[in-house]
Amino acid sequence: MQTRRAFIKLLCGLGAAALPWTGLPRRWQGSLQSWVARPPVKFVRSPAEDEQMDFKRLAAAHLERTAWDDVNVLASSDFGGRRAGTVGEGKAAGYLIQEMAGIGLVPMGSLKQDGKPGFAHAFTIPEVAASVVNGRLVMRPQAGLKSPALNLLGALPGENAEEIIIISAHYDHLGVYQGKLYPGANDNASGVGCVLEVMRRLVRAEMKPKRTVVAAFWSAEEMGFLGSNAFVQSPSFPLARLVAVLNVDTVGNGPTGEFMLWADGLNRAAKACADAAAQAGASAPLGPTNGHNSDHISFAHKGIPAVTLLARNWLEKNHTPEDGVNLLNRDQLKLAAEILYRAVQIAAV
Ligand SMILES: [Zn+2]
Repeated sequence: MQTRRAFIKLLCGLGAAALPWTGLPRRWQGSLQSWVARPPVKFVRSPAEDEQMDFKRLAAAHLERTAWDDVNVLASSDFGGRRAGTVGEGKAAGYLIQEMAGIGLVPMGSLKQDGKPGFAHAFTIPEVAASVVNGRLVMRPQAGLKSPALNLLGALPGENAEEIIIISAHYDHLGVYQGKLYPGANDNASGVGCVLEVMRRLVRAEMKPKRTVVAAFWSAEEMGFLGSNAFVQSPSFPLARLVAVLNVDTVGNGPTGEFMLWADGLNRAAKACADAAAQAGASAPLGPTNGHNSDHISFAHKGIPAVTLLARNWLEKNHTPEDGVNLLNRDQLKLAAEILYRAVQIAAV
């Protein structure tokens, strides 16, 4: 209920930056907001020692979470399959904003509050027609009323704050179709969990990367990469600052260590992932898309080095109601987060 209320506030233009504190005592709010607006690796002073302890305790609860925890939250029936534009996706947005704010990421969206950016980057999506093609549910945009959707972005500032590496995953999925829930545990709660886990690890390690690392969660990927495409058409920071985009999609299933990459050749982003996979003892060759794709292409079309990391067996149960947490291989999920963590170090340090 809290997240839904918060999401509605956000859609009303109040901005994402206010969300995580709406349930806190007023005396905490000002100092907690100023804390989150600062570089996250240091727990800066607060008016009173006991309050400072409260901030640390609040952040610790978020920092201890893992990709597996995130997958179990996002793939639960409470989130209704997270179709873009639905209440279920709004709840997922609320969860992601809480996690990003909870570890002190700096909002990098375009919706503003009090003149400052929040975490959300808003755009619109069309109505869609859903149908099952070759056993997989797919959605195709139609003419008709448009409704709002949100990408979400939060940063860990680097020494050279101007240069940016994006690590990203789409957080939407297919929702409910003909009475059946499509949980999207692998597609793509797994990728979202990896991105969050990597940001938590960077914060826990009190690491100040050379380049700024931005965690981005795209909406409406399942409608044809609409969220990432909206971002490159109307970015919340100049695309010229973007050095590489490391996207993760459906990374949690199949034999441990078997991954693949989609990219237009071995560009800087793809090379970082391939090298990271080798370091982690995994295999991640460039593979054919066979007519499928993911959000990295929105950036590739703009000439930005971009890659998507996937599990080699990503098509297994993909876009079916069986894509639940039971499909996942926890070791594979852990390894995917490890590869992304190492790839960030290669690309951002
Ligand atoms: Zn999908």
